[in-house]
Order: sequence, then C-alpha cells, then structure tokens
Amino acid sequence: MINYTDHVRLLMVDVVSRVPALSHIDVREVLVFARLGRTSAHGAYATCHSLMLPDSEPAYYYWRDRRTGALTRRSEWFITRSPEVRIGPRRISHLISIALPRFCDQTLKDTHKERVYGRGKEWLAQLDTIVHELYHVDPHEGGIRRSVKGDGRPSTQTHAPQFFRDVQRIVREYLASKPDPAVCEFLSLDFDGLLRRYGGVTGTTFRDFPAFPQRYRERLAKQPRAPRVAQIVPLPERTCQRLYTEADLAEREFTAHSTRRLEDQSAGQRPKGVYPHLVPSQAARR
Ligand SMILES: [Zn+2]
Repeated sequence: MINYTDHVRLLMVDVVSRVPALSHIDVREVLVFARLGRTSAHGAYATCHSLMLPDSEPAYYYWRDRRTGALTRRSEWFITRSPEVRIGPRRISHLISIALPRFCDQTLKDTHKERVYGRGKEWLAQLDTIVHELYHVDPHEGGIRRSVKGDGRPSTQTHAPQFFRDVQRIVREYLASKPDPAVCEFLSLDFDGLLRRYGGVTGTTFRDFPAFPQRYRERLAKQPRAPRVAQIVPLPERTCQRLYTEADLAEREFTAHSTRRLEDQSAGQRPKGVYPHLVPSQAARR
C-alpha cells in the first residue's frame, strides 16, 4: 500500500529546498495527516492549521433577553489556546491535512487552475494545492500568512487574488528547478489508479480519528465577577487533550467511502470526539 501523507511530506521537503519563497519552512515542524473527504462531496482538498497562535483574550458566552436586550445569563470566563504537538524533540508549528480520496481526484477541469496550467496536466492541480498549503505558513510568526493585495498592502482576506498568483508563481519556479520526476510521480494517479497500482492507500491520522488537535477552551482559574447576571453557566467539564506526541498517531487505510485503522485495532475502541461541539447555538462570543 502507499502511505499518501508520507509522499506528500517528501514532496514538501523537496519543494521548500528548491523554492526560496518557502525556504523559511522546516518541514520537520509540519505534520501532514489525512482526513476522510469523499470525492463526490463538496469540501476542501487540504487545510493548514497553525498551532502557534497565541492564547485568546479572556471571553465568555452570553444570552440576552430578546425583548429588552438585557444580559440574562453568561458562561464562566475562559481563554482559547492551541494544543501542543511534539514529534520527537520537535514542536510542530503547523498541521496540514489532506482529504482522501478527494485530494487525489481533483481535476483542473472547469477550475481557475485549468486556465493557469492548461488541460491534461491534472497533477498540477494537486501540486498547486500542496504549495498553497505551504504558502499559508507565515514566515515570521509561525501563524497563518496574512494575504496582501496586488499593490503589497495587507488584505483582509486569507485568500486574496495575489495569494493564488503567488502560489502559481511558486509552482512554476519549482517545476523550472527540474525536480526529480519520481518525487511528484504519485500525483499523476487518481484514487482508483493508486488502488490499482499499490493495492491500497494509507495515511497518517490521529488515534481519535476523525478528531485532530484543535484549539480548546480553558476556564480562567481566577473568575472576574463582572458582568453580574442572574445566572452563570459553568463551562462543560471535559478533558481537552493539551499535548500530543507520536503515540497519538496511527496509520489508517482509506477507501472511497470509509477508513480502517491498521494494526492495534483494540485501541480503535476508544471513545471518539475529544472535542465535541457543546456550545449552545444561541451563544455568541463576546
Ligand atoms: Zn488556503
């Protein structure tokens, strides 16, 4: 079987070594993992998450009386923070997820990428996506890059048109550097093609699949008294995993519609959903 996320990671190592615009990235601090994303369903091909964002400002959820607008209830005060992921001695700065099998089945047809890369070069759609996620890695603060407009001024969008143009330029620079075709070769096969050639597709995932490390809420130890309301709602008691290591990783096999944990199946019985979404729908962030 082919471990797809390993191949993506090796390609990333090659890209950052050849393209100066991405030379600030140490791929050892980037963890590539797989999520299930069906080809027929709408959704992202890949995503980039920073684990280096600072703690949020203290906040609470609140409820208002519909008629008077007065504050009736609020939650306890909390901050949100990023979990820590450590692989060996290194702290991971970014997680990049790959949606399988959707990522393998993306095509240029009818997308803006077809105009850029031309027909028939389907694998460039996937290379563009990989470069896109790497380009999200901020060169200065370990967060997510702030997009700029064409004139260089900051943009409020994460995906300003200049962002896509930069990605296309980096893809061309990489190709012009004459990389070893063997590094990109896996991109030339769609999911069915991979199954035919390798007999199966696997990827690195977190053990509590489909959960993965995400920012969590932490109750402030010292609770401010304000604002005074009739009722203070306690934050849900739940254990948020704050530290992940390689012991939290597991390899899974991906099929067109499902996944299966490889080896050590008993651990797959552990409860899922470390991060259930328990926030009341009417709650608003302060
Ligand atoms: Zn993006």
